[in-house]
Amino acid sequence: MTNDENFFTLEAARAKDLSDPLREYRDQFVHSSENLIYLDGNSLGRLPLRSKEMINKVVNEQWGDRLIRSWNTDWLDINRRIGLKIAQLIGAKPHEVILTDSTSLNLFKLAYGSLKNQGEGRTRIVSDEMNFPSDLYILQGLIDIFGNSHELVLAKSDNEIIVREEDVSSLINSRTSLVSLSYVSFKSAFKYDMNAITKNAHDHGAHIIWDLSHAVGAVQVNLNDSQVDMAVGCTYKYLNGGPGSLAFLYVREDLQDKIINPVWGWFADANPFDFEMQFSAAKGINRFLTSTTPILSAASTEPGIDLLLEAGIDRIRDKSVQQTQFLIGLVDKLLLPLGFVMSSPRDPEKRGSHIAISHPDAYRITQAMIHPSEDNLIVIPDFRAPDIIRLGVAPLYTQYQDIYYCVLRIKEIVETHEFEQYSEK
Ligand SMILES: *Cc1c(COP(=O)(O)O)cnc(C)c1O
Repeated sequence: MTNDENFFTLEAARAKDLSDPLREYRDQFVHSSENLIYLDGNSLGRLPLRSKEMINKVVNEQWGDRLIRSWNTDWLDINRRIGLKIAQLIGAKPHEVILTDSTSLNLFKLAYGSLKNQGEGRTRIVSDEMNFPSDLYILQGLIDIFGNSHELVLAKSDNEIIVREEDVSSLINSRTSLVSLSYVSFKSAFKYDMNAITKNAHDHGAHIIWDLSHAVGAVQVNLNDSQVDMAVGCTYKYLNGGPGSLAFLYVREDLQDKIINPVWGWFADANPFDFEMQFSAAKGINRFLTSTTPILSAASTEPGIDLLLEAGIDRIRDKSVQQTQFLIGLVDKLLLPLGFVMSSPRDPEKRGSHIAISHPDAYRITQAMIHPSEDNLIVIPDFRAPDIIRLGVAPLYTQYQDIYYCVLRIKEIVETHEFEQYSEK
């Protein structure tokens, strides 16, 4: 990293875009307006051109022409077929990952299975207070289902940026059933040491479930290396699968037949098409399916995953680190003097692919970015209450210039008091 004044300039940004080894991937996505800078790929990834083709093909050929015959030729194996591509992104074996349901529902199924398997002696569930609220709600709901005999304990954060690993470890004991954490935190982008936390959980006989939603497609994940028990994640963020596209789940090979899915739908059955009256759970990863897959939302995930596999996660992560460092350099130089505070870890090893900055007027500033007056540049970040602006870098299509113009635009909005024309939330 350099502190050179010339490093954080438009010329520097342009030069970096020109020499970027991933630059041709930008053209694989729809960009409908020259006037729009999109830094929210960590909430909803851009539309890959190939996804438009894919969806057309599924609608016109598979549904329109071939009708029900497409179940056998294209649809029945879609969960496994795309699951094994996701497996390559997260360091898992092909038969350990399946595309199905939503992230929250997958967490529900796996956490239920884990608690049931661990039995009554283990009554503690460990998470942290920076976790995605839906994950915490799912755990709270499970405690209710299991008759309120479990307790959910949350590791605290001093600064709302990181959770110290020892503060998680000190909560894990011999009565701990399950540790459930997000690998990359949705607000600050804090990234855990997956190896260390997983090992700690195992040393005490606890299971661990990692939520990879803000990590998959942006950082390297190696579930097998870390001997992770279970994981879930979504496909509409860095995987560019489309709004509400299906999520995935991972269960380590040797655990699959020990963990039971609480939803005994016919697709979790060993022989769904035998139409037996009595449920009998499938062996292997298929037992974590529930019912008929929404095929359009499954098919739309594949082109985005293919693009990531082609580009390679190592190159993507390299570029993400360089781009987030570039962004932090600009924030330091141009925004800290205006009352902003860095709300993400500065060490790239400790964060994912977005940067959070805080400002007391964050809400009105984001309103001015998204809804500018006249024909100013539209910049789309996202806002997280009470005072955070998240700027997401998606290396397949984010340019250094986008980052530069975004920071300059924020500076202008604050310096000219433009945000004061917008109402408080
Ligand atoms: C985005 C996200 C989810 C999404 O949950 P849905 O069930 O798809 O609505 C869950 N967990 C985390 C950590 C996320 O970032």
